[in-house]
Amino acid sequence: MSATQPCILIVEDEPSQREVLNYNLTAEGFRVVQATSGDEGLLLVREEMPDAIVLDWMLPGVSGIEVCRQIKSVSETKGIPVIMLSARSEEVDKVRGLETGADDYVVKPYSIKELIARVRAQLRRTRAAAIGELLVFEDIILDGETHRVTRGGIEVKLGPTEFRLLSHFIEKPGRVWPREQLLDRVWGRDAFMDTRTVDVHVGRLRKALKATGGSDPIRTVRGAGYALG
Ligand code: CA
Repeated sequence: MSATQPCILIVEDEPSQREVLNYNLTAEGFRVVQATSGDEGLLLVREEMPDAIVLDWMLPGVSGIEVCRQIKSVSETKGIPVIMLSARSEEVDKVRGLETGADDYVVKPYSIKELIARVRAQLRRTRAAAIGELLVFEDIILDGETHRVTRGGIEVKLGPTEFRLLSHFIEKPGRVWPREQLLDRVWGRDAFMDTRTVDVHVGRLRKALKATGGSDPIRTVRGAGYALG
């Protein structure tokens, strides 16, 4: 499994359908692994640990639903997104009803562009979950869930305003934020605050970040505002 080239497993018994999927997903830069039956699909899931699975409902032998159910019942594989292909919309309803745990459903005949968009959406979702809302800039790590910030592994103690300021900075490193814009975003549009308030809190944020022993990561851009990095 490569970070730059996600692996997609296709489980589809119809050669022409498989070929279209293989051709287009490969052209999109994915590494594609193909299975022609449910059994082979289950084997390849364990062998390849793909980043996503495009799974046909109607398969000879083990059905797509059973394949999905098995993938979702094993802790090692249940996080892999499964996009189920189905011939009829009634089947999709049935898949939903069966609660197989499929992450998305596409009805045949489908647009390959739409399918690829859905694959990409699933990959984005699992990637976001894997990093757990962590925002990173150099040695600074901001955890959006626990509201904790560390620098070089040392905890940075921040007040809520400084935390919000850093959240904005770290989401777009290098971007210069005018003071007025920071006032709007961090304090709210209706806040009757002077832009000097921004200077005070940026000053506190700098002090807290430097307290861990690192250099000042925030830049003051004359006549423009502040930037991280
Ligand atoms: Ca089929």
